Amino acid sequence: MKAILTIFLTVCAVYSHGQELTGAHGPANTWEPHWVKIESTNIIYYFQDTARIQKKVERYISDHEAAYVKINEVFQAVLPSKIVFYVWIDRELAKQILHRELGFTLPKTCITHAAIDQTVGHEMTHTLA
Ligand SMILES: [Zn+2]
Repeated sequence: MKAILTIFLTVCAVYSHGQELTGAHGPANTWEPHWVKIESTNIIYYFQDTARIQKKVERYISDHEAAYVKINEVFQAVLPSKIVFYVWIDRELAKQILHRELGFTLPKTCITHAAIDQTVGHEMTHTLA
């Protein structure tokens, strides 16, 4: 129950954040994702949607947290903040909004935009290395 409430509140809270990300001003576009925020030990995830893919999301997070620990054994990076992962299900929508193909990482800001089916570990290595 608490988890559901947290997710619900976060969805409301991050809605405006989505606009900063795209540089868009004015009222939110109706087609813009309602990001679902899930904070884990090393990474803050924003999922484009989690409906009907709960198991996939849980797997995604555990795989990425494990990869983070393993990759950072090598680089031993101390980041100023947690890595932020925007996880897109719809590559076409991402391209419309971001004007770039997925995935990519902006290492200085620790922000990654990834497709949900991308190789685990690739993008975070850009930030940790
Ligand atoms: Zn790359």
